[in-house]
Amino acid sequence: MIQKELGDQTKEDLKNYFQDRDYMVVAVPKGEPARVYVVKATRAVETARRVHNLSPGATVALGRALVGALLLTSLVKHATDQKVLLKIEGDGPIGTIYAEADGKGRVRGFVENSQVETFTKVSDGRKKFDVSKIVGSKGTLTVVKELRMGTPYTSVVPLVSGEIAQDLAYYFAQSEQIPSAVGIGVLVGEDGSVKHAGGFLVQTLGGISDRVVDLLERRVRELPPVTELMEKGSRPEDIAVAILKDLDPQLIGLKEVEYYCPCDEDVAKSSLLLLTEEELEEVFEKGPAEVVCRFCGRVYRFSKEEVLNKEKP
Ligand SMILES: [Zn+2]
Repeated sequence: MIQKELGDQTKEDLKNYFQDRDYMVVAVPKGEPARVYVVKATRAVETARRVHNLSPGATVALGRALVGALLLTSLVKHATDQKVLLKIEGDGPIGTIYAEADGKGRVRGFVENSQVETFTKVSDGRKKFDVSKIVGSKGTLTVVKELRMGTPYTSVVPLVSGEIAQDLAYYFAQSEQIPSAVGIGVLVGEDGSVKHAGGFLVQTLGGISDRVVDLLERRVRELPPVTELMEKGSRPEDIAVAILKDLDPQLIGLKEVEYYCPCDEDVAKSSLLLLTEEELEEVFEKGPAEVVCRFCGRVYRFSKEEVLNKEKP
C-alpha cells in the first residue's frame, strides 16, 4: 500500500465527510468581479418531504424554494443568524410556498397544499414536473432580509415564470441590481424520495469585462441540468469549477447546509399569546391547546394554566 501524504489523506477524509452531506460552495474567477454559488441540498429537501409528507409535486416545488432560499443567503453574512425569507404566492394549486435560510446554512420551509397533484410536461424529450403549473405563473415573489440590524428589508417582484429559478434571477436583477443566472433542480425517484436537489447562482458585479460576461453566459447556457450533473457524481465544487472553466476558479467559501427548525416551547407558546382572550377560551374548551410548528411538524401542548399564568411582559 502506498503511504499517502498527510495532505492527501486530509483531502480524502474531507471528501468522505462531505460525501452524503449537504453544503454550499462559493467560487470566484481569479481577478474578475463575479461569484458562483453552488449548493447541494438533497438531504435537506428529503427531510422537508418527510416532515411535511409532501406529494412529489410539492416536493419539487418546496425543494426548489428551499434551494432558492439557500442561494439567497449570498445576501447575508456568512456564519451568522442573519436570515433570508422567501415567499412565493402564485395562482397555482400549491398555494403559498415559504422557505427561509440563514448565514449558517440552516434552512426550513412549508407549503400551503402539501398534497398538490403532480403536473408533468415533456421537455427535451423527457418527462418533467411542470412546476409553473403547480406554483402558478401569476403572482408575487417576496424576499425579506433579516439582517438583525433594525427593520428587515422586504422586496416584492412579480413572478415571471413560476419555475422559481428564473423568478429568483429576476429578483436579483430587479431588486438587488445584480445580473444573475440561477439554476435549480430537484429530482424525485420512483418511490417519491428525493434523489438529488441542488442549484447554482452566478453573479457578475460592476467592472467585469464583456469577455468574461459572454463566457459565463455561454457556460450557464451549455450547463446540463444540475440534477443530471449530480446524478453523474458532480459535487458542488465540480459544478462551480465547470462554470468557471478557463477563468482560473478559486474556491473561497464552504458551508454545511441542513434542514433545521429552531422552534421551542417559548416560540410555540408565544403564538398562543397572539390570540384574544375569547379565542383562547374557545381553544381551551376542547382541552389543552395544541400548537403545531408549520416548519417541522413538532406538536406542543399547553394547559390553560400554563398559558394564562405566563402573560406577555
Ligand atoms: Zn419547528
